[in-house]
Amino acid sequence: LNFGKFILDHLRLKKDEVALELGETREKITYKEFTQYAVNMSVALTKLGVGRGDIVAVGSEKRNEFVPTVLAIVFTGATYTPYDLKSGRATLKHKINLTKPKYFICSSLFWSTYSDVLKSFDCIEKFVTLDEGMESVIPIKTLVTDDADVNKFEPVQVQGQSDIAFILYSSGTTGMPKGVQLTHLNCILNSLPDDFSDESLKTAFLFGEWYHNYDTFMTYKFLCLGRKIVYVNDAEPATFLKSVRDCDVNIAFIVPSFVCYLSKAKEAEKCNLDSLKIIYSRSSPLHNKTIQKVKSRFPKLVNIVQGYGMTEAGELTSESWGTKGPKSGSVGMASPGITLKVADPETRRTVGPNQRGEICLRGPVFMKGYIGMPPSDYLDEDGFFKTGDLGYYDEDKYFYIVERLKEVIVYDGYKVAPLELETILQLHPGVREAGVVGKPVPVFGEEPTAFVVKQPGTEVTEKELIDYVADEVAPFMQLRGGVRFIEEMPRNPRGKIIRQRLREMLK
Ligand code: ATP
Ligand code: MG
Repeated sequence: LNFGKFILDHLRLKKDEVALELGETREKITYKEFTQYAVNMSVALTKLGVGRGDIVAVGSEKRNEFVPTVLAIVFTGATYTPYDLKSGRATLKHKINLTKPKYFICSSLFWSTYSDVLKSFDCIEKFVTLDEGMESVIPIKTLVTDDADVNKFEPVQVQGQSDIAFILYSSGTTGMPKGVQLTHLNCILNSLPDDFSDESLKTAFLFGEWYHNYDTFMTYKFLCLGRKIVYVNDAEPATFLKSVRDCDVNIAFIVPSFVCYLSKAKEAEKCNLDSLKIIYSRSSPLHNKTIQKVKSRFPKLVNIVQGYGMTEAGELTSESWGTKGPKSGSVGMASPGITLKVADPETRRTVGPNQRGEICLRGPVFMKGYIGMPPSDYLDEDGFFKTGDLGYYDEDKYFYIVERLKEVIVYDGYKVAPLELETILQLHPGVREAGVVGKPVPVFGEEPTAFVVKQPGTEVTEKELIDYVADEVAPFMQLRGGVRFIEEMPRNPRGKIIRQRLREMLK
């Protein structure tokens, strides 16, 4: 069981077909070029000293070298971990502290954005860059001398059930992101492409980020199938429409806000999306009315499929597995190999159909564990993972997600952890206490809104705090709902902020 070997065996079957295409520039890489790049790079990394057990980080915008670089790392027996450009300095520091990478491969854009943060970490021994002309960083190209023989190349042997191939991060919705360790076996199971065997799905569009579980493994599924993957850096609806039209996309993996956009936007209606047969939506709930509207606007669209998944275990349920066709409001049936149960969050007793409770799971696709957290923190007595999601299933074993057990702000499909914003706000000298909740707005969901008790004796304005937070966080996390100053923070007897009270104050 070796994830690198599993993917490489599929890659070798294809040659001149396009593997990846960047939607904005239409730059392409064929399977042959992709495989050659991955193998060359892997040989170079081995020369540099990278080997089994090392942690190698990649920080880059999406580009054609990105995925082959990830595979190159995995071929050496090392562990890959991604750091993204968009999540902001505070989260980047938190993630580096969690994983402590020894090697860092970055693009010039990532380096110019974050080199000060990166240089402050002693754990990073060597920096390598995908580009040339950057001071104090080794360009990867200088390590590659000749093309390696792809057919003779063998990935380093690993222990598939225990060696960690990937460390990905949860979205940090309910707190700071958690480091999710996935073994080679986990990654193989996440990449099995059975659900997309329909050969007419020749070109897939991936809108999301390659540091997220959803897009990462959808990419490997389609690579295993030898199909073409179109991706973009600019996560705007207009770019999506353009890519679908220009690149003849047949299946698109997007988030609910894009489906809403398709249901309403004038420019979408005028656009010829006839090649698009299936839309796949995950990450947050999608209303059935929206699905129906999109279908009536785009009659050639065969289906909109919903799925429910998470970093720790990939795709838990999907409508693709529904034996009775799609059902309104449901995220479908459990994926093969996943055992799901619903448990009363208080008593931990398993409950039956149509009874709400915490969704719990077990199965070989489930991660090896979180970094730095004992399994007793997240597994129940029977070894089931407690997802923190409230939901139920019906008589046909179709699942429905109600909401999070913990609180969450969803802005434009992105999840914002109030706790993270509160922590950042509290670092400001003018802030004594901060509580964050979501202010409901049309289309985008909820805007993060802060309630602040000022530090006595200081003066701070709403604008100052909005700008301060904007400097620290990803764009979607900004305090779009504004800041309200209050005299006293409502807290419960255990000292926790009563967010419900804050939400009432918004009305
Ligand atoms: P963290 O664990 O750090 O708090 P997170 O749970 O948001 O963040 P992810 O692993 O990216 O991190 O997201 C998984 C979660 O997303 C699920 O637990 C669930 O709450 C939510 N989710 C995924 N798909 C759906 C869906 N179709 N409908 C509703 N919620 C969904
Ligand atoms: Mg989670």
